Amino acid sequence: MSHHDERTFVMVKPDGVQRGLIGDVVSRLEDKGLKMVGGKFMQIDEDLAHEHYAEHEDKPFFDGLVEFITSGPVFAMVWEGADATRQVRQMMGATDAQEAAPGTIRGDYGNDLGHNLIHGSDHEDEGANEREISLFFDEDELVDWDLGTSQWVYEDA
Ligand code: UDP
Repeated sequence: MSHHDERTFVMVKPDGVQRGLIGDVVSRLEDKGLKMVGGKFMQIDEDLAHEHYAEHEDKPFFDGLVEFITSGPVFAMVWEGADATRQVRQMMGATDAQEAAPGTIRGDYGNDLGHNLIHGSDHEDEGANEREISLFFDEDELVDWDLGTSQWVYEDA
């Protein structure tokens, strides 16, 4: 089962929470066959926002990004599955929701670059998934469990 256990960090941003899209995002990831192993409804503070988006510190949009991500609650999650990090990124769509393909989360619900509803760890940034998971979750907040439908999702489960 080892190659089905890649973990990735996913977050419904404040705009997604306000628009009532938590359930839809969770549903889409469940429907894909991914397994939720952690979830928390929370408010991000300045420090966490700076840490999470440290790579963008020098960008012109950084202050606005911190203000936005701390402007209301988010739903932070950890999802597990084969190639989970890249799979979630594909389901999210392009960063600019105006450019994101229909059928993706950003493409179906978003219309803006900053307000793009969802965050998922970057699969091209080695170790970003594990870094972000440990920034938001303690190890004992993650649940180790068997998803009964995995044997139907994966031929070799
Ligand atoms: N962002 C923004 N303006 C920009 C680029 C990015 O407001 O010009 C925001 C946007 O919300 C994005 C986040 O900063 O999701 C992080 O940017 P990144 O390039 O890492 O995009 P992502 O990985 O979220 O697709």
